[in-house]
Amino acid sequence: KGSDGKYTVSLIEGDGIGPEIAQSVKDIFTAAAAPIKWESISVDPVFKDGKQSIPDAAIESIRRNYVALKGPLATPIGKGHVSLNLTLRRTFNLFANVRPCKSIQGYKTPYDNVDTVLIRENTEGEYSGIEHVVVDGVVQSIKLITREASERVLRFAFQYAQDVGRLKVRAVHKATIMKMSDGLFLSVAQRISKDYPHVDFDAELLDNACLKIVSDPTPYNDKVLVMPNLYGDILSDMCAGLIGGLGLTPSGNIGDECSIFEAVHGSAPDIAGQGLANPTALLLSSIMMLQHMGLFEHAERIQAAIFKTLAEGTTITGDLGGKAKTHEYAQAVIGNL
Ligand code: NAD
Repeated sequence: KGSDGKYTVSLIEGDGIGPEIAQSVKDIFTAAAAPIKWESISVDPVFKDGKQSIPDAAIESIRRNYVALKGPLATPIGKGHVSLNLTLRRTFNLFANVRPCKSIQGYKTPYDNVDTVLIRENTEGEYSGIEHVVVDGVVQSIKLITREASERVLRFAFQYAQDVGRLKVRAVHKATIMKMSDGLFLSVAQRISKDYPHVDFDAELLDNACLKIVSDPTPYNDKVLVMPNLYGDILSDMCAGLIGGLGLTPSGNIGDECSIFEAVHGSAPDIAGQGLANPTALLLSSIMMLQHMGLFEHAERIQAAIFKTLAEGTTITGDLGGKAKTHEYAQAVIGNL
């Protein structure tokens, strides 16, 4: 916090629609007099010792400020490109990815009572990046599960459940098939649960969880779901689908020191630069950020204005069936503050 009473936050505007949706966040935060000063940083890759890396200035900014808001970063598909998103997660050891999905009044979907919270292990599992050719035509990819990373994300999930008063934690796994790797995750979950006597704990198979959530999401409204990396990736997008898609879903990447908040969606190259993007997901990510910083009143006020604008339904973006441009939607939110 600076002498002006404002907190400096690193801002990565990102690629594609990133700068357009980041502008909406900046405009709305200014109008709401949120005590945030943005420090814009670029994470355009540089090469250090022959390896792709993030510029030092960006790393220093996030280390100094502890908190960053990030737009989407485009990742070229194929060989030789390490995802910058993965690099950021690894650099700051952002071990837990929190993804809430809550139905939004005014946007009709098959269920109007979705309220899921999913915590995804963010550093290992199927994303360990260990793949190799055994012989021509045979590729081996290693899913790495460690006691240390499992314990870290599970402890975070129980602590989160306790802090937000959502007192049921459910581990989602496939230990019937992956007996050792998911088995380890599950046994760590059972052990950690003993440290949280006020939080209920149970476990569910991934396939069953998918079937049940899309059949009736209501029983999940009081739970925090926690799971290994890939399961969380897929299941959270499925939950996003239940509330109306990627334009609405926020997330937080949490580490011991630094945290980076970002929308779940990508850079949407198909609509970039046209003022068509929905900034709600990045806005809701910035609300998670304010809550993480303890700025609850500002979070509540901006969130209420967003939900009111969406519920009115007159000034919403194309992905939600409206005709508004990104900045027109932002102006409507400002009008509702
Ligand atoms: P995407 O999320 O960018 O787009 C999928 C579809 O959803 C597109 O039709 C797009 O127009 C639409 N969409 C996404 N966000 C929207 C928004 N805010 N408002 C309105 N419509 C929206 O996924 P993709 O096309 O698979 O990926 C594009 C690029 O983004 C790739 O390079 C990918 O690697 C990257 N990506 C980055 C992140 C991240 O930075 N966290 C996440 C996912 C994908």
